[in-house]
Amino acid sequence: MHYEGPIYRPPSEADSLLVQATVGCPHNKCTFCMVYKKGPRFRVRSVKGIEADLREARRSYGSRVQTLFFPAGNTIAMPVEDLIRICSCARSLFPELKRITVYGSSQYIHRKGLKNLARLKKAGLSRIHVGLESGDDVVLRKIKKGTHAEEQIEAGLWAREAGIELSVYLLLGIGGRERTLQHAQNTASVLNALNPDFIRVRTFLPKQNTLMLHQIRKGEFQVLSPHEVLAELSGIIKRLDVTSKIRSDHYTNYLDVSGDMPSDRDRMLHTIEKGLMQDERFYRPVYVGTQ
Ligand code: SF4
Repeated sequence: MHYEGPIYRPPSEADSLLVQATVGCPHNKCTFCMVYKKGPRFRVRSVKGIEADLREARRSYGSRVQTLFFPAGNTIAMPVEDLIRICSCARSLFPELKRITVYGSSQYIHRKGLKNLARLKKAGLSRIHVGLESGDDVVLRKIKKGTHAEEQIEAGLWAREAGIELSVYLLLGIGGRERTLQHAQNTASVLNALNPDFIRVRTFLPKQNTLMLHQIRKGEFQVLSPHEVLAELSGIIKRLDVTSKIRSDHYTNYLDVSGDMPSDRDRMLHTIEKGLMQDERFYRPVYVGTQ
């Protein structure tokens, strides 16, 4: 098996076979993200190399492989014919596969278009993990996400229409104190338009080697306190009109607020209310992340 550069995968892919399809991230500009800032540069691995890794995995793990994830940062950006070929190869080598997933930012999903997304679904791609972060255009511009709310909605709806599951990542606190209200309002609006299969919650934590850390140190960005983060989450959940599964599967979060919408809304809000009654010293400190 060949791996190059940082290999990240969502916690929900902990049991998945990881076969690297791309290296790095073609965008690599998000101000909060340190993952590929020191390289390697984005490139797409050869289909032959990826297929060789899939065959090796079949020999090593056989039918124990139930789910497959193709790292790295934005594999949806690889040429559609290549992605179709490796999905088809994986499906024929592992007929028992329940899921094939990739990371994909909205702008790269959007460039694929509905027709190609439908072809990818037919070839076996079943889920895309999308770093939505925020639905507020001001925040998206500030963090250099490279997309905007309208594109996020169109891309996500195309993926869903193609039959691909949408797992979106919401980043609490990414608007700072200045945009917390607009971040909550506009993120809820985008989530309502998408009604994704999963809403996965993360909390902003400054990372080393990022522009965002520099802005914090210069006093240009105010990190939210634990109570402010929880109030923001409450503001989002109250505004949601979705049937999504909300999952808090990340170490950055102050509380585990998980449940299925809409039936678990009150329980989740109650968890947050209890959390707001806890002294803030109870929660982890803000620190500079190194990974
Ligand atoms: S957050 Fe995702 S899209 Fe942005 S630079 Fe990092 S890997 Fe690339």
